[in-house]
Amino acid sequence: MEFEQNEEIEDKAAESRKAEKKRGFIEMVLPVLTLMTIANCIVILVLVINIGRKVNWLEQQVILLQDNVISVEARIEGSMLSDGSGFSDVFDIDGNVVDAAEAADIVEAAALEDTHKLEGREDSSDGIRRVYLTFDDGPSANTDKILDILEQYGVKATFFVVGKDGYAEQYRRIVEEGHTLAMHSYSHKYSEIYASLDAYKADLMKLHDFLYELTGEDCSVVRFPGGSSNTISHVNMWELIHYLNQENMVYFDWNVSSGDAASGGRSADQITSNVLDNIDKFDNAVVLFHDAVGKDTTVEALPVIIEKILESDNTVMLPIKQDTVRVQHLQE
Ligand SMILES: [Zn+2]
Repeated sequence: MEFEQNEEIEDKAAESRKAEKKRGFIEMVLPVLTLMTIANCIVILVLVINIGRKVNWLEQQVILLQDNVISVEARIEGSMLSDGSGFSDVFDIDGNVVDAAEAADIVEAAALEDTHKLEGREDSSDGIRRVYLTFDDGPSANTDKILDILEQYGVKATFFVVGKDGYAEQYRRIVEEGHTLAMHSYSHKYSEIYASLDAYKADLMKLHDFLYELTGEDCSVVRFPGGSSNTISHVNMWELIHYLNQENMVYFDWNVSSGDAASGGRSADQITSNVLDNIDKFDNAVVLFHDAVGKDTTVEALPVIIEKILESDNTVMLPIKQDTVRVQHLQE
């Protein structure tokens, strides 16, 4: 009997030891499990954030790839010239035949200038849409026609000119009729001006002094051939931009392209819709046209474009000035 009782007591003691062991085990494991759960949550959170970043990175890569495709397509098109397999329709701004390397740059620049640049810096303003009509690569015979149309509608624009003899009257007309005489490049030869910072400086100063002598204007508004985002320059474009800053000059790109840069040309209807379908996207729309030799459809399209803009509410057309809201592809 006593023996049985002792056994019972021992059993109970053993059981309670077991229970205590179990409790001890749970007390030890519980914080570890909690810590592990927290750690897992952190890991999952980090993974989710990283996936988001990766998606952003991928989107950026796609945009870069698209830009590169334009550049490569233009290069291929240009390089075919050296094989003598066509593309005899690539001319410089004066309508002259150029060598294969320059032709490749011209085709590439035309492709770049044919695109709207939605990412261009542009701060919204006071509910008034400002449209800046800009004309590159003149003067030519088309410049007079464009000046006549602008005069007829009482509209002021901006001319990013090159250096050409025999057009003194056109440079002066631009200034006298209240438009902005702005600088593009004296030679407009990509291989020359983008060979080095010094080459760019020399070309721009030559143009500046040339225009000062002809018109008395101390020009300070600039547009880079191919734009600041061009893929042609052998010099880092920031070097050129810093140089302009030092000289107290300001550069402008565009956010709306009329599409008239293409060598093959565009119909007046295409040019008109390229402009009118896109200016509404911006409070400050800088529209890229060309008034070089052969840009006859630009002249043809201009009256309709101006009339439609004049009909738009709260919209003004202005020439670019130093203090105009900057539309620039490269942002500081
Ligand atoms: Zn140009």
